[in-house]
Amino acid sequence: MTLVLRICHLYPDLLNLYGDRGNIMVLAQRARWRGVDVAVVEVTLGRTAPGDADLYFLGGGEDRQQRIAADDLAARQRGPLTDAAAAGAVVLGVCGGYQLLGRFYRSADGRDLPGVGLLDLWTEHPGAGSRRLIGNLVVQPDGGGPALIGFENHGGRTYLGPGARPLGRIVLGFGNNGRDGGEGGVAAHVYGTYLHGPLLPKNPVFADRLIREALERRHPGCELAPLPEALEKHARAAVLARAGRPADA
Ligand code: GLN
Repeated sequence: MTLVLRICHLYPDLLNLYGDRGNIMVLAQRARWRGVDVAVVEVTLGRTAPGDADLYFLGGGEDRQQRIAADDLAARQRGPLTDAAAAGAVVLGVCGGYQLLGRFYRSADGRDLPGVGLLDLWTEHPGAGSRRLIGNLVVQPDGGGPALIGFENHGGRTYLGPGARPLGRIVLGFGNNGRDGGEGGVAAHVYGTYLHGPLLPKNPVFADRLIREALERRHPGCELAPLPEALEKHARAAVLARAGRPADA
């Protein structure tokens, strides 16, 4: 039986900082290399997301773009996203998209943007002139596995409530708020992270985990054949060396 993966890319034209779209390319290509049939649906402002996707993705954006996306997202997509996540679909948000998966984002001018509430967390920007959290980011995932690597650039500070757990612990960088050592937020198959770069080309193990979880819904017990990783290993070693960290074992 042919495996099918349906990906929904939300607001690709508004939320696409630092090549976040590359995450979609990696998910689709790594799945296709395993013979999976992939369909990508792009949902722009004013359109409602399909409820039957296996994986939903929201990229990052500066406050201005985020404000435009936030109202549409909360009004239009909260229902389909909540239902899909409850049915086991994977949701991934990066930076501005991560912030909007939470309860709210208080932007630099003090106004609250609504979140969709899929993650029990909130984000506050301390205001114009405050220090932005910028630089390379290396995270040790809580569930084990290779370090997650990427780049962060955000003013917002994210705080987790009891219903979300961090994706991992900071090895290098600031992560959620620069204070508590945590990075990202996870609840069931909903993931948020500050890792741009984009995230998935440099973190193929994490990319495959998302693909597997997304496929599991329709295809329980499915396996992904290993892929050659020589280029990915080189890229990771170079980034880890720049961060003063040893290459993957
Ligand atoms: N506007 C948000 C912040 O600065 C998100 C920025 C981003 O997505 N890189 O906190």
